Amino acid sequence: MTIRGKSALVTGSTSGIGLGVARALAGEGVNVMLNGFGDAEEIERIRSTLAEEFSVRVLYDAADLSDAAQVAQLVRRTHVEFESLDILVNNAGIQFVAPIQDFPEEKWDAVIAVNLSAVFHAMKAAIPGMKERKWGRVINIASAHGLVASPNKVAYVAAKHGVVGATKVAGLELANDGVTVNAICPGWVLTPLVEQQLEDRARQNATDVAHETEALLAEKQPMLTFTSPASIGAFVVFLCSDAAQTITGAALSIDGGWVAQ
Ligand code: NAD
Repeated sequence: MTIRGKSALVTGSTSGIGLGVARALAGEGVNVMLNGFGDAEEIERIRSTLAEEFSVRVLYDAADLSDAAQVAQLVRRTHVEFESLDILVNNAGIQFVAPIQDFPEEKWDAVIAVNLSAVFHAMKAAIPGMKERKWGRVINIASAHGLVASPNKVAYVAAKHGVVGATKVAGLELANDGVTVNAICPGWVLTPLVEQQLEDRARQNATDVAHETEALLAEKQPMLTFTSPASIGAFVVFLCSDAAQTITGAALSIDGGWVAQ
C-alpha cells in the first residue's frame, strides 16, 4: 500500500525540519496541512510551490500551538478540509537556554506548552478518526534531548523526555488499531532553531558562528556533520510505510551517534 492520497498535518512546517517533512510527504502524493509562524508572503510561496511541484493539496493554518483550543481546532480543520487526517507529525518546537536558577517561569511555561502539551492535545484530537479508519501514523519529533540531557535546557529536555513518554503510552493504547506512534530523536539539524543558538554562543564567547558550529558538533555528535531536514522527512515517509507497520512506541535516533556514547 502506498500513502498517495492520504492526508497529513505537520505542525511547525513553515521552516526547518517541519518543512523538510512536509516536502517529503507531499513528494509521496500526500495532501498536507502546513502550520507555523512566519512572513505571510513567504508562507504562501511555500504552500503554492509544494502544491504545484507535487500536484497535491497543500493548505496552511496559523494556529498558535501554545493554546490548547487552537491545537484541537487545527486538527478538526485538517480533518474537515481533507475528509481525513491519516498522518500527524507533531514537530513544532521552541528552545530557551539558561541555568535553572535563572530560567524565567514564562519561558518554562512556553516551552512546555509548545513542545509537550501541544503533542498531547493534537494526539487526543486526531486519534479517534485514525481508530475509526483503522489506519494512522503519529510521528512526534522529539530530540536526542528526549533521551539524554544537556545543561541549561531544563524545559526543553523535560518536554522532550515527556514527548518520548507520551509516545510510548499512545503506542501501547493503539497497538491493535492499525495506528503506530513513534518519536524521532534527531541530533543537530541546521535550522533557524540551531542557528539562533550558534549566534548566541558566538556573542557570549566573542567568537564567530563558524567556530561555534565546529564546537557545537564536537561537543555532542561523533559524526561531525548535521542531519538534513530532508533526511528527517525521508525517515517520516519510512515510518508511514507498510514496512514500518510493527514499529510503535519507539524513540528512534537519527543523531550521528550522539546517544551511543
Ligand atoms: P525551527 O525554528 O526551524 O522551526 C520551528 C517551527 O515551529 C516553525 O515553523 C515555527 O513557526 C513553529 N512554531 C514555533 N512556535 C509555534 C507555535 N506556538 N505555534 C505554531 N507553530 C510554532 O526549528 P527546527 O529545528 O526545525 O525544529 C523542529 C522540531 O525539531 C522541534 O520540535 C525541535 O525541538 C526538534 N529538533 C530540532 C533539532 C535541531 O537540531 N534543529 C534537533 C532535535 C530536535
